Amino acid sequence: NRRLFRSIKVGWLMVHEVLIKKPLFICAAMKPDSVAMMELGGLHKQGAVCIFGTGNFGRSLGFRLLQAGYEVTYGSRHPGKSALLPKGAKVTTHEEALQEAQVIFLAVHREQYGFLASLSPALEGKVLVDISNNVRRGQYPESNAEYLRKLVPGAVVIKAFNTISAWALQAGGLDANRQVLICGDCASAKQAVADIAHGLGLAPLDRGSLRAASELEDIPLQLFPLWRLPLRLGAGLLAAFFTYNVIRDVVHAHVTDGKDRSFRIMISLANKAFPDVALVMLSLCYLPGAMAAVLQLRNGTKYRCFPDWLDRWMLCRKQLGLLALAFAVLHVLYTLVIPIRYYVFYRRATVYVGLMQENKTLEFNNVMAWRSDAYLSMGMLGFALFVLLGITSLPSVSNSLNWREFGFIQSKLGHTTLLLCTAHTFLYGWDNFLQPSAYKWLTPRSYMLALVVPCVVLALKAVLITPCVDRAVGRIRQGWEREGKGRAPEDNANNHLPLIL
Ligand code: NAP
Repeated sequence: NRRLFRSIKVGWLMVHEVLIKKPLFICAAMKPDSVAMMELGGLHKQGAVCIFGTGNFGRSLGFRLLQAGYEVTYGSRHPGKSALLPKGAKVTTHEEALQEAQVIFLAVHREQYGFLASLSPALEGKVLVDISNNVRRGQYPESNAEYLRKLVPGAVVIKAFNTISAWALQAGGLDANRQVLICGDCASAKQAVADIAHGLGLAPLDRGSLRAASELEDIPLQLFPLWRLPLRLGAGLLAAFFTYNVIRDVVHAHVTDGKDRSFRIMISLANKAFPDVALVMLSLCYLPGAMAAVLQLRNGTKYRCFPDWLDRWMLCRKQLGLLALAFAVLHVLYTLVIPIRYYVFYRRATVYVGLMQENKTLEFNNVMAWRSDAYLSMGMLGFALFVLLGITSLPSVSNSLNWREFGFIQSKLGHTTLLLCTAHTFLYGWDNFLQPSAYKWLTPRSYMLALVVPCVVLALKAVLITPCVDRAVGRIRQGWEREGKGRAPEDNANNHLPLIL
């Protein structure tokens, strides 16, 4: 009887489509005996959508769907008790709710999918959107969407919306990630879900077949994957520079003169470590680019893969830069409080009182005036460009720039920033580089160590921009290959593409 009813329904749909010329999609992936024809043309235009589950996600999704003009029916275990549902939505049992709609959103946790088995006949041919996520990676042997397909074999399972949070949906998708990743084995069903996402003002992105579902389910479980390396590096450098300064300034003073300089830890030593870390991390943003150019020159081609570690390093340059900017901001803030520190007030007062007691005049030193102004000027210019780099790396800003503009800002202005900050540090050190007293326990000051990497990067850059080297790199990046230096056999086995710089 059901088959007969379906055949009549299919026949009627076809007649209806031909008569009023609406698009009709037939899902090739569906079994012939469960041919489900979806009147998707109707769906884009305020069609009926069903949501199973009246929890957080179900409510937020229903709210947005209603706003977009869809007719929303909730399927719930307790239709009479459901509260806080968006105005205009109908609530009924699961069986009744799915009658009208062709697309059903499953806003229920995987652990509660059991109830769907009894609804299997009624769900045949319907598009079942699995939005579920897990608590940890590898929690189940197969993805939730594949498990759902086994549970309801007659339905067309699509994985989508799991990377969007209930909060983002309610906030209007403007302040949070708007991308809706979709995967499934039926193109027309994916299109139907993509159309709904479009209707909600979101940006659907097809991620292939249902086999990609486990990958999609892993996305919300990732915790700052691209930030891990920069954060570890930042923390490691900070700990190293800070400890180094504590040993040189506090421990050294205590051991050699018996003085207690521990008060310097809070501001003076922190403000020595922050700029050191910022400078090293900024230069580490530009070092992999220079290394890649050197590798390409050596290989005589751009079609050979970079080592994995270099690929990973290049991928997290933006995060390295933003973290470096955060340390630079801390340096600026810590520097601003210097005039109001007790220690500074005390030092100044003793110097002035000493001068008065000895009836001496403090001579104006023109060289020192130049030095301090140049040092401050380089620092301020470097910081201003640093902030500009940070702003242009924001997606909303970088999206408004074309590739050339973005490249100009990130590469040319980036190297200029590095140059200014390095000059700022050299001017800070001034003649200390040559003074034996600057080398306590034969160790250089921390900023001298911090200057090593930026100097290497700037020297490499200076070589790379000389006309003959620049021309050679430019030709390689446009696809030229040195004879006999083509793709290495092992590169074919390598899965990832070379990064184009
Ligand atoms: P929730 O607030 O706990 O809601 C789950 C709903 O499932 C309940 O309100 C209930 O609705 C229904 N339910 C509970 N037990 C059931 C059972 N035994 N049988 C049938 N239905 C049952 O969860 P949620 O936050 O909305 O999440 C729902 C799904 O969306 C989950 O798979 C989650 O991973 C996914 N998700 C959530 C978010 C988010 O931001 N919350 C983001 C992405 C994906 P009734 O009482 O009406 O039956």
